Amino acid sequence: MLCLGIESTAHTFGVGIVTDKKKILSNIVDMYRPPLGWGIKPMDAAEHHRKIKEDVLGNALKEAKTKLSDIDLVSFSQGAGLPPCLHVGLNLAKELASKIRKPPIGVCHQIAHIEIGRLSTEMTDPVTLYVSGGNTQILSFVEGRYRCFGETQDIGVGNALDKFGRDIGLEFPAGPRIEVLARGGRYQELPYTVKGMDLSFSGIVTEAVRRVKSGQSKRNVCFSLQETLFAMLTEVTERALAHTKKREVLLTGGVAANSRLRGMLMIMCRERGARFAVVPRELAGDNGSMIAWTGILMHKSGMRTKSGILPRQRTDDVDVKWL
Ligand code: AMP
Ligand code: MG
Repeated sequence: MLCLGIESTAHTFGVGIVTDKKKILSNIVDMYRPPLGWGIKPMDAAEHHRKIKEDVLGNALKEAKTKLSDIDLVSFSQGAGLPPCLHVGLNLAKELASKIRKPPIGVCHQIAHIEIGRLSTEMTDPVTLYVSGGNTQILSFVEGRYRCFGETQDIGVGNALDKFGRDIGLEFPAGPRIEVLARGGRYQELPYTVKGMDLSFSGIVTEAVRRVKSGQSKRNVCFSLQETLFAMLTEVTERALAHTKKREVLLTGGVAANSRLRGMLMIMCRERGARFAVVPRELAGDNGSMIAWTGILMHKSGMRTKSGILPRQRTDDVDVKWL
């Protein structure tokens, strides 16, 4: 069985083709990059997606050495995400699904991040730290659903890094640039905001920007920002691990590329005797193959979805019938 998955929740438009034998045949992504100094404008990102969608689709089919008529199932990111962007994915899914005469299946984007992580790391029942541009959540499977044990109360941690970067003149995405700038820095305390199991990032970003603008060393501020943000994430992940008594921690989402975050989580897991794994870089950010793979899991477990988009879909809205 071949599933073609479409991702379009925010900055990235992606198409992936995956088999039900767990093989990723292609995974093409194209990312919208706002001009220097700007954040993502949903309408502009959607316009980007509309412009490049046919090329991305064509390249995904070509790389998989397949054609549309060989596709058995079409899946798309149904939510959560930016409505104008989600519509581009939905419309393409509907168009392709009508050509192959099978209804498209709507996938929860956050769950797709977990499932591609489980597929690529062979973890069975992890606590997942999902850290991306728009999202920051600590998730784990309990009683039929992926439950959210903690999450950001304002912006995603990737967005926090990008916003800090934007305000000090770094290009988007700023996360990798901050990681480089932070090398050799010295720690200076920043606000540490963990509220129960939830996190908040906007205050830290404001303070970090203020420090750079008042002439403090960029290197020290970048270093301290990473240390503080990642310690907060590690603290909440550790508490979720202790509470659920699970034995695995999976790190996923675009910020999973960061070596310091990986390092902190690795130490925490070693101390607790838990296994730690990270999604490979090419599957960590938003992509179509995670949507395709989750589409297969949903379809095979008999799940069907209504058409339309769900911009505010929560991870724990979805019954997980394949576990
Ligand atoms: P996603 O939304 O999952 O596609 O992830 C994109 C986010 O990952 C952006 O906010 C990037 O700044 C962030 N990111 C990518 N690479 C790194 C890195 N090495 N360190 C920190 N953040 C990163
Ligand atoms: Mg994402």
